[in-house]
Amino acid sequence: MTCSKQPFQPIDSQRVTMYVCGPTVYNRVHIGNARPAVVFDTLYRLLTSLYPNVQYARNITDIDDKIMKTAAELGEDISVLSTRYAEAYFDDMQALNNLPPTIVPYATQHIPEMTDMISRLVAKEHAYESEGHVLFAVQSMADYGKLSGRSLDDMLAGARVEVASYKKYAGDFILWKPSADDEPGWDSPWGRGRPGWHLECSAMIEKHLGESIDIHGGGQDLIFPHHENEIAQSCCAHDGKPVANVWMHNGFINIEGEKMSKSLGNFRMVNDLLEQYPGEVLRYVILSAHYRSEQNFGKDLLDSAWRSLDAIYGFLRTQVGIEAAAVDIADTHAYAALLDDLNTPVAISELHKFAREMNAADGDALAEAKGRLLAVAGLMGLLQQDPEQWFTHSRGGSDISAEEIEVLIAKRNQAKADKDYAGADGVREELKAMGVVLEDSREGTKWRRG
Ligand SMILES: [Zn+2]
Repeated sequence: MTCSKQPFQPIDSQRVTMYVCGPTVYNRVHIGNARPAVVFDTLYRLLTSLYPNVQYARNITDIDDKIMKTAAELGEDISVLSTRYAEAYFDDMQALNNLPPTIVPYATQHIPEMTDMISRLVAKEHAYESEGHVLFAVQSMADYGKLSGRSLDDMLAGARVEVASYKKYAGDFILWKPSADDEPGWDSPWGRGRPGWHLECSAMIEKHLGESIDIHGGGQDLIFPHHENEIAQSCCAHDGKPVANVWMHNGFINIEGEKMSKSLGNFRMVNDLLEQYPGEVLRYVILSAHYRSEQNFGKDLLDSAWRSLDAIYGFLRTQVGIEAAAVDIADTHAYAALLDDLNTPVAISELHKFAREMNAADGDALAEAKGRLLAVAGLMGLLQQDPEQWFTHSRGGSDISAEEIEVLIAKRNQAKADKDYAGADGVREELKAMGVVLEDSREGTKWRRG
């Protein structure tokens, strides 16, 4: 809101509250939708390292005109469609190593809370009923537009505001709209209908987190109109109390230097990317940029992120037997960077420093370096896999399964035992051609894709 960095002061240091706008579930999500989930999951991990109770809510919008349209095309009930894509979203988010939020409220499970909030807004004369709709009267709020810094005139000139007969003023937005008989709807004081999108978040924040929360997050594209309208609804329903003390917005993701758009057809869906890259590579790429900056996303970045993770997992693999020491990371540069408006690029470069230190150390210093590396990486949801497991991830080009690789390694061991060295080399070459590299050591033969 202030467009500046401020020291974070929670309303209640025993219970920190954060709300992030979640997806509208009618299709798979693209990498741009994954960015806020990864950024605010990292913030959630960081806040959890500082405060005893962090309540993080991320909603599911399961009633929306896009959901209704897609469900009608498929001849499905909206709940069948939205449940399928909500589950798919959870799968994608888990693959990116996002923790489940503390609260996942669904819009359709909060209709009474929404109609209740609308009634209060109508009673306070911030909203009015017209032709079965209920609209928020933006001119009833003196400082409407303060988050995006726009005046009403700017908004009307620049935005896609719909002019409609039921609106008293073109900038007014819908809180409730009527549903036709064949459309999903709920009974309300204004007839059978459904809520407007902006209203959902205000009602769910009030119900689960309270009238004022500590942090509200989301993508930069939500500042106007969505967050502006959340502020209007909540603030006017609560006699001027702010809905959130801190607003944080992540920047856009571009694909190979271009904006993601329907016309360019360059959306990168998370589930498609996961067929080529481990989720941790996507997460590493997202966190390698500062959350407020615009981020360019592309093959080179993904490949280089994969090599960077290989390098650190490679160090960890050689130190598998070393128990990581429990260390205090409070005085590290990496932790300070994360506390400074979530400076993940600096924290990631520190991870590489810790890994090099670990590689050069031995004894207690080695255990401590490993402890520091894993503790800081854990705050970003990185490097928590078994290093052996990491190197078995398919790298494209090779479809051979782990079981088939083990069978071939056994065959090679047998050939070596039979002193058939040409046969043993043959197996090694065969695997190499399929992108699998063998490494012999005293403990036996290890393999990795690469
Ligand atoms: Zn929202």
